[in-house]
Amino acid sequence: MKIIIVGSGFGGLACAKALGGSSHQVLVIDKNNHNLFQPLLYQVATGALSPADIAEPIRRVLKRYANVSVVMAEVDRIDTTAQQVFSTDGGQYPYDVLVLATGSRYSYFGHDDWAQYATGLKTIENARLIRSRLLSAFERAEKSRAPDEQRRLMTTVVIGGGPTGVEMAGAIAELGRWTLEGEFRNIDPKSARVLLVEGGERILPQFPQELADYAQRELQRLGVELLVRHGVTQIDAQGVTIGSEHIGAGTIVWGAGVSATPVAQWLGMEADRTGRIAVGPDMSVPGLPGVYALGDIAAFMQDGKPLPGLAQVAKQQGRHLGRALRSAAGPGDTLPPFRFHDRGNTAVIGRHAAVFDFGRYHMKGGLAWLLWAVVHVYLLVNAEKRALVSLQWLWRYISKARGVRLIP
Ligand SMILES: Cc1cc2nc3c(=O)[nH]c(=O)nc-3n(C[C@H](O)[C@H](O)[C@H](O)COP(=O)(O)OP(=O)(O)OC[C@H]3O[C@@H](n4cnc5c(N)ncnc54)[C@H](O)[C@@H]3O)c2cc1C
Repeated sequence: MKIIIVGSGFGGLACAKALGGSSHQVLVIDKNNHNLFQPLLYQVATGALSPADIAEPIRRVLKRYANVSVVMAEVDRIDTTAQQVFSTDGGQYPYDVLVLATGSRYSYFGHDDWAQYATGLKTIENARLIRSRLLSAFERAEKSRAPDEQRRLMTTVVIGGGPTGVEMAGAIAELGRWTLEGEFRNIDPKSARVLLVEGGERILPQFPQELADYAQRELQRLGVELLVRHGVTQIDAQGVTIGSEHIGAGTIVWGAGVSATPVAQWLGMEADRTGRIAVGPDMSVPGLPGVYALGDIAAFMQDGKPLPGLAQVAKQQGRHLGRALRSAAGPGDTLPPFRFHDRGNTAVIGRHAAVFDFGRYHMKGGLAWLLWAVVHVYLLVNAEKRALVSLQWLWRYISKARGVRLIP
């Protein structure tokens, strides 16, 4: 069978690897040439790691599978009747089986104009832009002689109190508190303000209350100001408006909402509130034999609830689907149902502070932080990345330095 996998993130890559060495002809199409480990993007955005530490060329990962080819192209249309995938550069690719795994993107709740001021954290370009804005703001504050402008430039607003917002706020606070300490003459980086704004009832809503409370205390200990149950009403080049108050900010980070890539549009299907399409127990798309969707774009129901948009969900789904397709007799075969096994959910707040939710067991503090580090190193794509990241973390732990602070 000719199998096309669109998207080589957590789900698509796991599926391609599981199909490696099979009798099928597999084509992986991705708009980027690399697979990205998004959980550590915040470290690129705050100068702790460089992009190459968390990104790996897709070709390199898949080179040992002779039956798997890779094409770098952006898919923008699918003809499910003619069984063809189309890309923006005029490419046209026929398939017998199609696996869609294009993930999600940031959503600005109908305010797309905010994107130019409040960068989301999804790609290497996003992380580089945040790093550059953050470090440039300190440089401009050093040159400014106007105390109000200095204060504005040294204020960072992070919008969204989920894991990404918490991790960003904690890392930015540590940057001012420790990393930049003593490097400036006219400003004191320790006085930098970091605000974390969350519209809901509390931060980390996906975690138990006890862990969210701990995260809140730890963030406050780092000097982060929490504005919970506060909705952002406007964002402009000078800052953020919350209710009727305008808060001047030099850097604004958006971590508030995601929606699926436009797969529903490509397939002419209904999507849920976050753009995901409904799939069956084997990840097949109803009414389209031979078409499957997984990861962030799929609303996969388990025990009456949709699975969350997590790397471990996408990875397990990709591996399961790849293995199932390996032994499928033909396109449209009913495949064995998928079941997600939760390995625990985690978020890091800062040095010696992380939370782990294993369902029945919870963990927080230094031990959770150590486990977070071990798990994230283990999950990196290969031994080279594991060694590189471990060494840098060790050095950073000893020196409190962040080495990747270039402003491009
Ligand atoms: C900052 C951040 C931190 C996160 N932290 C965690 C965490 O700690 N733990 C956790 O479990 N999850 C975390 N997540 C969520 C996790 O990264 C996602 O759930 C996971 O990546 C989803 O996998 P996926 O395969 O569906 O999509 P992705 O991994 O996003 O992969 C999608 C792929 O599709 C490609 N693509 C997209 N559109 C097209 C197109 N039109 N044509 C061709 N290719 C296309 C992209 O280039 C990408 O390679 C985090 C996410 C972010 C953004």
